[in-house]
Amino acid sequence: MDVRNVIVIGTGPAGLTAAIYAARAELKPLVIEGLQAGGQLTITTDVENFPGFPEGIMGPELMDNMRKQAERFGTEFVSGDASRVDFSKRPFKVWVGDAEYQAKTVIISTGAKARLLGLDNELRLMGRGVSACATCDGFFYKDKEIVVVGGGDSAMEEAVFLTRFGKRVRVVHRRDELRASKIMQERALANKKIEFVWNAAPVDVLGEETVTGLRVRDTKTDEVSDIECDGVFMAIGHTPNTQIFEGQIDLDGSGYINATNTKTNVEGVFACGDVQDTVYKQAITAAGSGCQAALEAEKLLEEEE
Ligand code: NAP
Repeated sequence: MDVRNVIVIGTGPAGLTAAIYAARAELKPLVIEGLQAGGQLTITTDVENFPGFPEGIMGPELMDNMRKQAERFGTEFVSGDASRVDFSKRPFKVWVGDAEYQAKTVIISTGAKARLLGLDNELRLMGRGVSACATCDGFFYKDKEIVVVGGGDSAMEEAVFLTRFGKRVRVVHRRDELRASKIMQERALANKKIEFVWNAAPVDVLGEETVTGLRVRDTKTDEVSDIECDGVFMAIGHTPNTQIFEGQIDLDGSGYINATNTKTNVEGVFACGDVQDTVYKQAITAAGSGCQAALEAEKLLEEEE
């Protein structure tokens, strides 16, 4: 079997940057694209903080550009999700369904996905009023009552975006202080279509066929009340996509990969982007760590030759 120099798993900013660097170093990387090719930026709108785009750029366009740049230097892409890995010895093995690939080094950049609250009726009503992606589903809530759950940057961004569609957007937050950055807070607080419901912890989503409301508990008084609405958007953070790596490499208590300068505990396996980032989680920091991972892989391969 053909043993590659490097397999990159995932195609967000981290994976594609790793691919660009590895391809330019003539390592002929094989990139496993993932079912959500392009990662989380493909379900976002304006990216205003990626350097080099003074007017901002749309998330999907940015990812498309990165993919083209990786392709230009000879990156090979395989579509589908990596389904299994074996890092117990080298060459490492990575499967996509029944297809097996082998490589001397692996760069993991599988990112993270939106978290849900785990409420009784949340999954049942998913797609019928419950959503975790404003840019995907906002359009369906024209002139409707919308609730956004969360107090971080995601919640502010989604709330502001959803005011394009909704009659009103209420942000339900479990504390009376936002976690979001100042600029995002100010934008949301200044928006006349947005109202805040403080100290409110979601108890359940209400509705038979479609969502009719969100039941919340006042975290100060314990009083339970219902907020009538047509849509509930969950914006409470993310979970790393590391299921297939359990038992293969070191993960922390939340499932993030433990990596130091992108090196995992398995020599030759590197991790970059949100899958190993519990702090910054930005497109640009993901891209930066993708570069680091590719340079580390290149250095290791060189040393071994
Ligand atoms: P986050 O910063 O972790 O915020 C999650 C929010 O959800 C917090 O307000 C948290 O409440 C709340 N929450 C978590 N679990 C909850 C539960 N079980 N019930 C009720 N509320 C719950 O996540 P994020 O907003 O997705 O942001 C992640 C990272 O991406 C951050 O670094 C952020 O800066 C970045 N980001 C940046 C932008 C931008 O700059 N344009 C946009 C989106 C995201 P507590 O505050 O009480 O913990």
